[in-house]
Amino acid sequence: MSLITDIQKYSIHDGDGIRTTVFFKGCNLRCTWCHNPETQSYKKELLFDEDRCVGCGSCVPVCPSRAITLERGKAVTDRKKCTACGKCTDYCNLNLREVAGKEYPVDQLVKELRKDEMFYEESGGGVTLSGGEVMLADIDYLEELVKKLHHFGISVTVDTCGQAPYENYERILPYVDTFLYDIKLMDSEIHKKYMGTGNELILSNLEKLSRDGARLYIRIPTVKEVNGSDEAMKAIINYLLEKNIHVTRVNLLPYHNTGSGKYMKIGKNYEGADLHAPDKEEMNHFVELFREAGFHNIKIGG
Ligand code: SF4
Ligand code: SF4
Repeated sequence: MSLITDIQKYSIHDGDGIRTTVFFKGCNLRCTWCHNPETQSYKKELLFDEDRCVGCGSCVPVCPSRAITLERGKAVTDRKKCTACGKCTDYCNLNLREVAGKEYPVDQLVKELRKDEMFYEESGGGVTLSGGEVMLADIDYLEELVKKLHHFGISVTVDTCGQAPYENYERILPYVDTFLYDIKLMDSEIHKKYMGTGNELILSNLEKLSRDGARLYIRIPTVKEVNGSDEAMKAIINYLLEKNIHVTRVNLLPYHNTGSGKYMKIGKNYEGADLHAPDKEEMNHFVELFREAGFHNIKIGG
């Protein structure tokens, strides 16, 4: 079974209409600006808002691993000792401690997702499976989930970075309406620098999905210092044209740092502090580049 970090309702940026987005835990990319760093690890982990800790000490004695100590008026958690058992989360009155990663049997998750069927029907929405990298979740679990959603007539969108075995995509393809497919860079070396891996598998999977008839929204997280240039955008455009990728929509997603606060909560540093979004004029110019190349459905944002 796979771990889920969040089920976000009434989402309007993760595909068509009003959607419920399920965030799976585990990813094999390490994008410098990742908005959901708590979804990178495949294991459960403790989130702790140390800045707001008042040092009451209630959490200290309940930890079976003796991972929590009080230092200079604040709780300090030794993450090497912490097993993410979650016991301390019930003892903080300020709710500063939580465990990311919950198991949901498929039927329980489907039941939860069906609660908003009325909104899906009225808005042309549905369920979006995201992450982390959902295509690296337990594929038997995922296949059962999308089959059941499909059985109930619920539209499924998959938000993927593309770095997963193609067999996984083949298993779920008949039950998925749309893939939100991330492309960040054509230069594999620079891709490796900012994302932790090259882009060969990502591009090869995109070509196969296009060949196999998937409905594709190409999503380009746009970061001034990384791909916010004519050269980088034109390289993506040329690739899409040369490979004859069947693109239903292009979403240019301006960089934002709203996830940066989560890094402290999982004991990591945010490495994207020096990155910026292109300004409005630059974003409009990139839209124009796509238009000139013959793409019609281009949107800034999700
Ligand atoms: S999650 Fe469990 S092991 Fe980790 S600090 Fe809290 S009580 Fe201790
Ligand atoms: S219970 Fe909460 S506020 Fe009190 S020491 Fe622990 S984390 Fe800090």
